[in-house]
Amino acid sequence: MKTIYVDNAATTRLSDSALDAMKDMMQDVYGNPSSLHHIGQIAKERLEDARARVAKCINANPNEIYFTSGGSEADNQAIVTAAYNGAKKGKKHIISSKFEHHAVLHTLDKLEKEGFEIQLLDVYENGIVRVEDVANAIREDTALVTIMTANNEVGTVQPIKEIGALCKERKVIFHTDAVQAIGHIPVDVQDMNIDMLSVSAHKFHGPKGVGVLYCRKGIILQNIINGGAQERGKRAGTENMASIVGMAKAMEDAVNNLESNAQYVSRLRDRIIEGCSDIELHRLNGDRYKRLPGTVNFCFEGIEGEGLLLLLDQDGICASSGSACTSGSLDPSHVLLSMGIPVAVAHGSLRISLSEYNTEEEVETIIKSIHKVVSYLRSISPVWEKIQNGEEVL
Ligand SMILES: *Cc1c(COP(=O)(O)O)cnc(C)c1O
Repeated sequence: MKTIYVDNAATTRLSDSALDAMKDMMQDVYGNPSSLHHIGQIAKERLEDARARVAKCINANPNEIYFTSGGSEADNQAIVTAAYNGAKKGKKHIISSKFEHHAVLHTLDKLEKEGFEIQLLDVYENGIVRVEDVANAIREDTALVTIMTANNEVGTVQPIKEIGALCKERKVIFHTDAVQAIGHIPVDVQDMNIDMLSVSAHKFHGPKGVGVLYCRKGIILQNIINGGAQERGKRAGTENMASIVGMAKAMEDAVNNLESNAQYVSRLRDRIIEGCSDIELHRLNGDRYKRLPGTVNFCFEGIEGEGLLLLLDQDGICASSGSACTSGSLDPSHVLLSMGIPVAVAHGSLRISLSEYNTEEEVETIIKSIHKVVSYLRSISPVWEKIQNGEEVL
């Protein structure tokens, strides 16, 4: 049976060109960039070359790029930086949204225990933060606004440029978790007035365990990892050279081919939405149009997402019920609940996240398989009949 991989919001296949760049680093340019000898200095050149290329992809300056172990670390460092820098000036209020990634939400939980006031904005039924809510929430003592560029479970894209302009005008630091957006939709830190931004390589066909924190010149980063003077003293530890160079290659490829890939992938996405539209009592979660090219999320009433995933997997289809971080727990996703979807309905969720490696043929197989599996699960569901009769189920 052929594997059909449509869980690209969880992680992506490494691209061949990124792999080639990584092999070269591991086998030939294996020096430590802090070493003074020539093989160390060649590594140092590769590191700075990767930094410049990454910076160009988001229209930043190379000295505003810090390499991290991934999106989670970048989120942690950005948020802690803005919080502690703000606290020094008596600012302890932080604005975010209810459906951020846990790397953001759990960092905010920690800060709340330390005495910060955290305000999480509503994302409404369409899964989009309202700019006027951000405007109304900003206060004299607001240290940070952190809103994700695109949501990882439902794929909705947030009004980042408008929020950036607002934060600039009100002189509040603005961070965005752009992990799902980079390489998929255009992101320009100047044009969007972004002060800090998080990137993760494995969401655009780069390697796992590496990412970027962009931090605008003038903002002094707080260290999370202490030790040597790497990353201009702001992130200790010998640089993950192969991954950094592989990430730069994958990011360049993704950004250079963004328009054609987005066009192709969104056509596949729209075909899935259309192909599933005749399934009774289903809903497409999040705004129909303001969404990532590759991500769709459905709820099918009367069934459990876990059963759906296992049966799709038997057809070779690798999908997700939401976020990889919450699978394994039986709690419905905080993202779907934040959008006002009832608990019983949120249990029957399915996320399909496509990439340019997927084909039209695969999409047709997926549509057929979803129809088959949903009607089978409903045929054995103890609540399906009640739901069809319009009765309330919990
Ligand atoms: C995947 C993801 C992260 C975490 O990135 P890692 O590199 O896996 O730590 C953070 N935020 C969002 C929106 C993500 O999709």
